[in-house]
Amino acid sequence: MIEMAANCTSCGECVRPCSFLQQQGTPLALAQRGTTDSNLLAAYGCSLCGLCDAVCPEQLSPSGMFHSMRQEAVLRGLVDLKAYAPWLSYEKLGTSLFFQRDLIPAGCSTVFFPGCSLPGTRPDAVQELFKRLRKIEPTTGLVLDCCGKISHDLGLTERFTALFERFSTRLKNKGITRILTACPGCSKVLRKYGEQFEVVSVYEVLVSSAPLPDDQNQNRLVTIHDPCPARFDVAQQTAVRQLVQSCGYRIEELSSHGQTTRCCGQGGMVEGCVPGTIRQESRIVATEAAGRPVISSCAACTDTLRAATPSGHVVDLLTNNTDFSFKPLSSARRWFNRLKLKFTRLT
Ligand code: SF4
Ligand code: SF4
Repeated sequence: MIEMAANCTSCGECVRPCSFLQQQGTPLALAQRGTTDSNLLAAYGCSLCGLCDAVCPEQLSPSGMFHSMRQEAVLRGLVDLKAYAPWLSYEKLGTSLFFQRDLIPAGCSTVFFPGCSLPGTRPDAVQELFKRLRKIEPTTGLVLDCCGKISHDLGLTERFTALFERFSTRLKNKGITRILTACPGCSKVLRKYGEQFEVVSVYEVLVSSAPLPDDQNQNRLVTIHDPCPARFDVAQQTAVRQLVQSCGYRIEELSSHGQTTRCCGQGGMVEGCVPGTIRQESRIVATEAAGRPVISSCAACTDTLRAATPSGHVVDLLTNNTDFSFKPLSSARRWFNRLKLKFTRLT
């Protein structure tokens, strides 16, 4: 807040594309309101998408300020966590022994970590990716767990630290030094807090380690939604595009892509305090897509966008599942899929 109050020029670059700042004013205005209870709680209206960081000519990080404000609000006991119960229950169950799995073969130092949403929505694709990764490196392992991003983003620092510490210590003790991620949210968390690990997106590994088919028939048109946690991850963005093209698709970019991509509406669990956010934000992306199928590397984005426009995950293309309009799965079905994956024989 001090840095923002000293350096934000109120130029408005970050306000233009952001519904939250359009309502609240510039980051300078928010910083000048100080640490009153109501101002701290206002930060729960920010999706932490980082678009403001990407466009700020002063290289400031308004999203970082809003995350710190959330942490302070939690410390003061201001946050009614009942509003976020669905997300917290999801994380609690996802990090429980019931759904965790460590498949660590002898000699393994690299694991595939598909996150939560992909195993819930696409267990067969997770198996297929794992199979391909083991062809590239036969000692690759698999870890099913949750990175704790929900607690992190809600500002529940103590809870997140405990979850992440348990997760990272477990992997370290098993000799894991490299983690292949499928979820851009996991990648961001693991890179920030798991400095002992090399974190690489599975898409980069698939692109760099296997010759891609030279598909001449690139007539099927799609567009790409870069997930906001990957907005600065150029290597991952490039790999996803190469995979999409290798499956025979022609890409037309959204006007908001790469560093200036928009949040799908799920970010920061804003929906918990501002109902209607998911609908509003996903419609903005859908409008930009203008009917072109939207491909993303985030399973949560894909499901969210699918309610507004035909959408698919890049692994859907890799596994020839190209029905971009199928209905999102029920919550029960997702948990069943995760459980099934836990007990499926994979090696
Ligand atoms: S992180 Fe996203 S939602 Fe939050 S202020 Fe920045 S642009 Fe707006
Ligand atoms: S873009 Fe940067 S300088 Fe401009 S209003 Fe936003 S935070 Fe302030």
